Amino acid sequence: MTTHSPPVPCHLNLVDGRWVDGERRPNLNPARPGETVAEYAAADRAVVKEAVDAAGRARPGWASTPVGERMRLLDRIGATILRRVEELAVLLSREEGKLLAEARGEVTRAGQTFRYYAHQLLQPEGEIYASTRERASAEVRRRPLGVVGVITPWNYPWAIPAWKVAPALAYGNTVVLKPAELVTASAGEMARIITDAGVPPGVFNLVMGDGPTAGEELLTSDGIDGVSFTGGTATGRHVARRCVEYGNKRFQLEMGGKNPLVVLDDADLEVAVRCALDGGFFSTGQRCTASSRLVVQSGIHDRFVDALTKATRALRVGDPLDERSQLGPVASPDQLARNLEYVEIGRREGATAVAGGDHTAEEGQFMRPTLFVGARNDMRLAREEIFGPVSCVIKVDDFDEAVAVAGDTRYGLSSGIVTTSLSAAERFKRLSRSGIVTVNLPTAGTELHLPFGGTGESNHGPREQGAYARDFYTVPVTCYTGW
Ligand code: NDP
Repeated sequence: MTTHSPPVPCHLNLVDGRWVDGERRPNLNPARPGETVAEYAAADRAVVKEAVDAAGRARPGWASTPVGERMRLLDRIGATILRRVEELAVLLSREEGKLLAEARGEVTRAGQTFRYYAHQLLQPEGEIYASTRERASAEVRRRPLGVVGVITPWNYPWAIPAWKVAPALAYGNTVVLKPAELVTASAGEMARIITDAGVPPGVFNLVMGDGPTAGEELLTSDGIDGVSFTGGTATGRHVARRCVEYGNKRFQLEMGGKNPLVVLDDADLEVAVRCALDGGFFSTGQRCTASSRLVVQSGIHDRFVDALTKATRALRVGDPLDERSQLGPVASPDQLARNLEYVEIGRREGATAVAGGDHTAEEGQFMRPTLFVGARNDMRLAREEIFGPVSCVIKVDDFDEAVAVAGDTRYGLSSGIVTTSLSAAERFKRLSRSGIVTVNLPTAGTELHLPFGGTGESNHGPREQGAYARDFYTVPVTCYTGW
């Protein structure tokens, strides 16, 4: 008897409301080597150019579309995503390797984000000021930025595009989205939902393909007014240079992190272990807000290390679609190789791996969560972003040393403290240099109505998410009126 595999879907580029084909490339399942989740059509530079031109043509019409209509469309997009959470979460899990429960949470967040920005449009749009001149008044209005290029990474294929595309569209901009090549199926589904909701042709365009081709065309195009980018710091720097060189585009960069979690002697041990486990290893450590440095005071150090080592070793690594798994695979072979290389670097530098350190026996890109002890903050292990399930413990004597070590990084995305002292928590919030500070909670985990972003090499430009998103996607216009 002959068996037939189900046909593999292919996601196409969306340009001016048309689905545009290109070179077909496979999108592979990181948990099951050889399984093609979907194919996608890679956009060459000409296709990207067409998409930018289409977004430029659609721009005046969309900017003058009544707010009520924009709200209705965004709300419909959000509602469709929320209705399809289960199916979209399975796809996300298969293409990126995220645990099904996490994937459901992420897709839900994306749906809620579209609805949130639909309703943000009812917030005040500007401010009225007194004029210092006689018989004159002054006001500040907002107008859309224009055509926005959105470039996103692979680790949050729904949440990150949603928290950029939703405010961009809400505030009257047209968009060209270039997602990471690894997660084009999720982007393709998002494009389909946006089109089916009735968003006019050219207002939202999707171009898929690698950064040096499709991304580069966006950065160098005259037709783009601003670029919102999330990804690695080295790529972010390149994006910044291009934006300045090619038309002085506005740009917003969310980049890497090397986030500290401080554990003080007075911490609740159970809370400390839970925060370290979640922040360090959940989502396979592939979060820009992951707690990859555990800065632990000497009095609690040994008890904390014992308890965390046991908990880390007990984590179940496995197929993300199996509800018993607690850690899925690493998203790509390159990322796995990089993680394992850093394990070797950590060992050579003199730190000791007390849990993990290798990949598991199963097929697929599975790696055991890895905990190093005896690390120092000047080691590469503690300074460079790994972006995998690798954490290291750095021992310190007191609060002041903990704050100094926590802040000794070129990044500045998130930092956390576990303590039962209100005074220590308050001082930490005031002394931290990062853009996000947590107390008795993991360093990872954000809420959609609150600003998100870092300092140092983690960020450039205005904050994302919440009401703050408006600052990037609109231009303040100061109007003076004499009467
Ligand atoms: P990369 O920087 O490799 O890629 C990010 C995006 O940029 C991808 O779409 C990529 O395309 C594209 N790109 C690559 N080269 C160029 C280029 N020359 N021109 C234009 N676009 C380009 O990051 P990853 O996708 O590997 O994501 C991991 C990184 O993202 C980590 O450093 C992580 O910390 C960071 N991140 C930061 C977050 C934050 O909010 N601060 C949140 C999530 C992740 P392609 O991959 O298709 O080639």
